[in-house]
Amino acid sequence: MDNLSNSVRYIKGVGPKKSGHLKRLGIKTIKDLFYYFPREYEDRSNYTTLREAAVGEKASLEVEILAGPQIIKPRRNLSILKIPFRDESGHGYLVWFNQDYHKDKLIIGESYRVNGKINRMGMEYQVMNPAYERVGGEDRLGRIIPIYGLTQGLSNNELSKIISSSIKAYIDLVDEVLPNELRRKYRLIGIKEALKNIHFPSSKEALHQARRRLIFEELLILQLGLLLMKTKTQLEEEGIEFPACSDLEGFIGGLPFSLTGAQKKVLSEIEEDMGKAKQMNRLVQGDVGSGKTIIAAASIFRAVRGGYQAAMMAPTEILARQHYESFLSLFGRYNIRCELLVGSLSQKNKESILEDLREGKIDIVVGTHALIQDRVEFYNLGFVVTDEQHRFGVKQRELFSMKGKRPDILVMTATPIPRTLALILYGDLDISTIDELPPGRKEIETYAVNPSMVDRVNAFIDKQISEGRQAYIVSPLIEESESLDLKSVEELYDNYKNKVFKNHRVGLLHGKMKASEKDEIMEAFKNHELDILISTTVIEVGVDVPNANIMVIYDAERFGLAQLHQLRGRVGRGDYQSYCILINNSRSKIAMERMRIMQSSTDGFVISEKDLELRGPGEFFGTRQHGLPDLKIANLFRDLNILKVAQAEAQLIIDNNPRLDGQDYEGLAKRLDELFREVEIIN
Ligand code: ADP
Ligand code: MG
Repeated sequence: MDNLSNSVRYIKGVGPKKSGHLKRLGIKTIKDLFYYFPREYEDRSNYTTLREAAVGEKASLEVEILAGPQIIKPRRNLSILKIPFRDESGHGYLVWFNQDYHKDKLIIGESYRVNGKINRMGMEYQVMNPAYERVGGEDRLGRIIPIYGLTQGLSNNELSKIISSSIKAYIDLVDEVLPNELRRKYRLIGIKEALKNIHFPSSKEALHQARRRLIFEELLILQLGLLLMKTKTQLEEEGIEFPACSDLEGFIGGLPFSLTGAQKKVLSEIEEDMGKAKQMNRLVQGDVGSGKTIIAAASIFRAVRGGYQAAMMAPTEILARQHYESFLSLFGRYNIRCELLVGSLSQKNKESILEDLREGKIDIVVGTHALIQDRVEFYNLGFVVTDEQHRFGVKQRELFSMKGKRPDILVMTATPIPRTLALILYGDLDISTIDELPPGRKEIETYAVNPSMVDRVNAFIDKQISEGRQAYIVSPLIEESESLDLKSVEELYDNYKNKVFKNHRVGLLHGKMKASEKDEIMEAFKNHELDILISTTVIEVGVDVPNANIMVIYDAERFGLAQLHQLRGRVGRGDYQSYCILINNSRSKIAMERMRIMQSSTDGFVISEKDLELRGPGEFFGTRQHGLPDLKIANLFRDLNILKVAQAEAQLIIDNNPRLDGQDYEGLAKRLDELFREVEIIN
């Protein structure tokens, strides 16, 4: 039976050898061939004249043959065939190397379409190794030619032919996926026409229409798949319905500040989820310093008042301890018991915390990965928060929520991305965005300088410290590395403590120190017993010391945009004007571009968008392990406009016809079914 999932061996001219080559390209079935899209195209459809054609580039011309062939043999093994021609603008030669067999194929006085690279030898114009066809028949030469990704033993020509004959023989087997309704609404061409034209476009416009349709289809299906997955889990997952909490208002009223509008909005979204008997799965994204911690604290408060235990996980011990301390002060006047669970606790201490957690004597636990170890058991864990979620893998977050019985889940990230992309990347989560900073924050001034400016930078730090401020100085590595010319943090510390800032209090912090030492240093910096903290990137996330207003980053070219932005986010947290100084050693294009972006924007959304643009979506999204299928033609960044439309339509379909009933939706339903099966295999 003819079937799209038949092997490529069914196609004429594809034997065991070629099918082996195709397999290396991931092509096994006829359908795979259809969906093996060209990497790019060569446009031969613009005819030009000899005079206007650019030397060194390929051009299509219409020429008349003037005389018979000349063959020159300048050396053994080299034979040059030349045939004189003219076009409307001048005279030239068609030239072939070692392909004398063309000599009798072109007839004097006849017109031909030719395509080849234009060359100039003195006064003579040449078209090198041209493809040609006689004028009169169908124009097959002046087309847009597909260029495929290839593998050894398979030429572009061969692959084109295989795809062309598979399309001729089997295109009628392809079913339409998009409902007519949608195709009409957006004037999308049918699938058969789209597939034909994506491989062998009849014109530029036809290619554009084919791409548009296929990109739309791919993004619609991706978004629908994600939405369906979400509704499925939401239907399945019964969750906790937390009772309303009348004390919450008082709790928030007791804060030294009032919440921003954005914080209020996000908190009410969380509250609404908590009040429902469904499991909450919510991501809060907000730029560094936007005030996510207090949102977590307020929701935890409600969960605890409702009679449940709550837990919050942070990626570093420093950050866990910081949260723990702010919780102590926030919850001090309530009868709420909060404990810290981190790897560095003494065995005895740990045991007693584990026991009290199990027995429900502890209401809130804040910790690191230590929280997800096997031995940690809860009495009735109802609410879990993961802070700086981009630092955790999907598995770790899952393990965390499995400590309770379908607890409500809140994840927080300071790497905000545009909503359209968040809908894809976090398709299984509901998203809240804190898009406003607390009032009174002054824009951080950012300067990228080269190492010759270090003395001036130090003078500047000196002045700020004399005025009572504090500074971070960050270096990328812990120990000196011989191969790389990086400042080791210890060398830097020595230099600052004993030479540059002999009169100030300088501390050192790095990942290899004992946890208790780290805590001591961090504590001292917080309490302003230190003026300067020399550190590695262990302070990258979360750390909050409002009096610190200078962030100096050595070897800034070593960091990506997201990381630079996180580091910079350690300052600008109080009322003081803050500064970020990037010491950049590199003149590479990408480093310069990053420095430029950092200097021109402090908005995390803008920066992540630029980051995405610079790195490309593949690498950007690669940081998150998920089971999303590969995109074959769409590009989440480039095709943002189509993505927006596809997302809106996917949502409409979910709202109006979640089961994809009706004949018009049959193709879509079938395709999604396949998709879910594929995803299950991947996961
Ligand atoms: P992040 O979103 O980076 O985790 P934090 O929660 O650490 O930010 O908050 C940054 C700082 O802003 C903290 O010192 C916090 O107390 C303060 N803060 C939070 N919300 C407000 C607000 N509405 N008004 C003033 N300051 C706030
Ligand atoms: Mg934070």
